[in-house]
Amino acid sequence: MIQPLVYKFGGASIKDAAAIKNIAQLVKKRWTASMVLVVSAAGKTTDRLEQLIALSFQGKRFDTELIELLDYHEDLCRGLFSTDHAIFSRVDNQFAQLRRLLENDTLKEEEGFFYDQVIGYGELISTRILQEYLCETGSPCLWQDARELVRTDSTTKMARVDWALTMQHCRRTLIPKLEKFPVVTQGFIGTDLLGNTTTLGREGSDFTAAILGVSLGAASVTIWKDVAGILNGDPDLFPDAVKFEYLDFEEAAEMTYYGAKVIHPKTIKPLAKHNIPLYVKSFVNPDAAGTIIGSFGQAPRIPITIFKDHLTLIDLRIRDLSMVGGFHFEFIYEVAKKANWRIQLIQASAAHLRLVIQDMPSTEEQLARPFRDVFHVQIKTHLKMITVKNPTDAEIKHYRQVTETCHLEQKSPELIQWVYEQEED
Ligand code: ASP
Ligand code: MG
Repeated sequence: MIQPLVYKFGGASIKDAAAIKNIAQLVKKRWTASMVLVVSAAGKTTDRLEQLIALSFQGKRFDTELIELLDYHEDLCRGLFSTDHAIFSRVDNQFAQLRRLLENDTLKEEEGFFYDQVIGYGELISTRILQEYLCETGSPCLWQDARELVRTDSTTKMARVDWALTMQHCRRTLIPKLEKFPVVTQGFIGTDLLGNTTTLGREGSDFTAAILGVSLGAASVTIWKDVAGILNGDPDLFPDAVKFEYLDFEEAAEMTYYGAKVIHPKTIKPLAKHNIPLYVKSFVNPDAAGTIIGSFGQAPRIPITIFKDHLTLIDLRIRDLSMVGGFHFEFIYEVAKKANWRIQLIQASAAHLRLVIQDMPSTEEQLARPFRDVFHVQIKTHLKMITVKNPTDAEIKHYRQVTETCHLEQKSPELIQWVYEQEED
């Protein structure tokens, strides 16, 4: 029984020819047949595809933007291959397909569906380039369409994984290949039961790495990043942030919930369930240790600071003189469930409930309406939150000053959070 290694490479790690050369070296040094490389779109390609999709959906012209994206990929290839290499016509072909999809009005009945059919082209193209380059430089490997592996429901832009089917397809399609060669495949995309392309949500390639890791019974999953590992604060804001050598699954999952951006939030749970260690390592300094996330139990009690933005505060004050009770909580959960809100924090006092949710594309009135019969409602959007785990007194003092425009503070022995006004970007 093989125990594959899963490596995930994000857009920054393959953003230009030099970056791809670095990845090729990194991979070559760690070469083993049963290796799966899960790859994102190159650089900012997905953002650019989102622009193209929006233009095309609104019936606007998109030629200039499409040609710019093609130029970017051709440039990248020129830095890697001789000019007569077959990769150039491959990339051209992919762009011709992309153009046909963008021009196909029959796909445009629903924006989410159209988005899903187009957005994965970044990954489809980048994986072709990387696979060709690895083969060319003495690391023979196979290309695999991830849509044959990752099976999902039909929810657009945020499909849910059908684990049983995905496992079946991985065993049937991927294992026989991995017995001979490493495989390069795409993050982020899957297929529904009707054979349409689906996507796992922005930055979803980390999640793909976890899905494949679990489905294959991998020895480990490694996410290669441009940071040294997981730090206890954003290094741009905290120059003396320290890196965790080890982190428990639970602690890492909590950090992503509070807003840490190093790993996609859905990545940790499936790996924890199957006890597959997750390494976060630097592709700039690949021999350095990075962070290992696994079942380590209690984490060291060092302070961890995490920022999260784009939050909305819903302030509910009970209209009659009844005090907060089960009825009110039930009522709120019902509304939240129906509207698919992501609740970030709840605070209750005698006649007052405050909940913080992630910003929604709804108006304030739409958010408030379901509550009006029972509560006086006030809404504040575009808020930010700071979470400090294991805070010291100095940190508490510091952030109380920083968050002058604080709307809410919540404190327990191991955690303190402030929700405050976000400055205009
Ligand atoms: N390319 C996709 C995105 O940028 C998926 C990923 O990179 O994880 O969102
Ligand atoms: Mg990306």
